Amino acid sequence: MLDNPSLTESSPDCPWTSPSITVEQVANAKLPTEFGEFRIAGYRSLISDEEFVVIYKGEMDGDTPTLVRIHSQCLTGDVFASIKCDCGPQLHAAMRMVEAEGRGAIVYQQQEGRGIGILNKIRAYALQDEGADTVEANEELGFAIDARDYQQCAEILFDLGLCKVKVISNNPDKLAALERAGLTIVERVPIEVKSEEPAAHYLRTKKEKMGHYLS
Ligand SMILES: [Zn+2]
Repeated sequence: MLDNPSLTESSPDCPWTSPSITVEQVANAKLPTEFGEFRIAGYRSLISDEEFVVIYKGEMDGDTPTLVRIHSQCLTGDVFASIKCDCGPQLHAAMRMVEAEGRGAIVYQQQEGRGIGILNKIRAYALQDEGADTVEANEELGFAIDARDYQQCAEILFDLGLCKVKVISNNPDKLAALERAGLTIVERVPIEVKSEEPAAHYLRTKKEKMGHYLS
């Protein structure tokens, strides 16, 4: 077991239902950021080659409702500050929220482009250049609208010691998946960042075609 000051025994009351945890923490370190001091932990899947990163701060306690977010990797938005989507500002807003609360965890899921991978995402962007929206582009390429699976993200939160969570998300599928995985959702914390076109168009598509909770 690695040295992890925040790791606590899981609460016996937790309604965790998964038969076993299929992720393993491999490293854990401090991560000072522009938004505050976090810890960063690396996880690997025991059933695939998927790797995960989680940043968190404060005591991870199964009895305390804790802010969490599952952030899906968006190379274009998170790193290159693309304005085709609102991923980068959302990630930073979530980090600010966790910092302000003094407690929380953000799982960074490396499933680029809602699970289709960066190369296919660029193919989808090329179709969008021709006029398709984000959903039509994925369909034209033969991919599910959303190919992501959140089970192991939930397992990471559980492994950190969390059980009752306040989920920062507008995505009903993520909320349902975390609940199915056995976490208790005590609150949904909406996240909306100011967006200009073309991100605003992308968000309208998410709201209309994917049922996201957006105003
Ligand atoms: Zn994005």
